[in-house]
Amino acid sequence: MTQAQDRRETLARVAAMLARRSSDRSVTQDAISLCVLSRSLSRIAERGCNEDRACPKCDGSGEVVIPDGWASCLSCAGTGSMDGKRERRLEDKARTIAALYGLRCYFQGDPRGAALYLIPQDAPNPERDASLYSSIGTAAY
Ligand SMILES: [Zn+2]
Repeated sequence: MTQAQDRRETLARVAAMLARRSSDRSVTQDAISLCVLSRSLSRIAERGCNEDRACPKCDGSGEVVIPDGWASCLSCAGTGSMDGKRERRLEDKARTIAALYGLRCYFQGDPRGAALYLIPQDAPNPERDASLYSSIGTAAY
């Protein structure tokens, strides 16, 4: 299967999942957005694996010294990564779209797999998403 065929099948799978949950939104556009967000997050994870992406302002700690002690680094939103702010923004967008369909997001940071899995909000044990995402979630990529 070519990469284009794989992407089309993934897009159809994600769109079908969204369509089952809503009929009054632009399901296809939302499915495309979720897949694009997932691929952007995946590229961030790849870069994080291959390059030193530590925030230069806080040396990757996510905290900076202020006169009264320590504060969250504003440059990286406290993530310690140069891509931290962008990553948070992309994740927030995905969460917003997913919530419209009664879904929650699981973000998987290993670049060998999909970065975003969509899990029904009514699936039990959200605290176990990290171990169950591949069986109860739908990968978006
Ligand atoms: Zn920082």
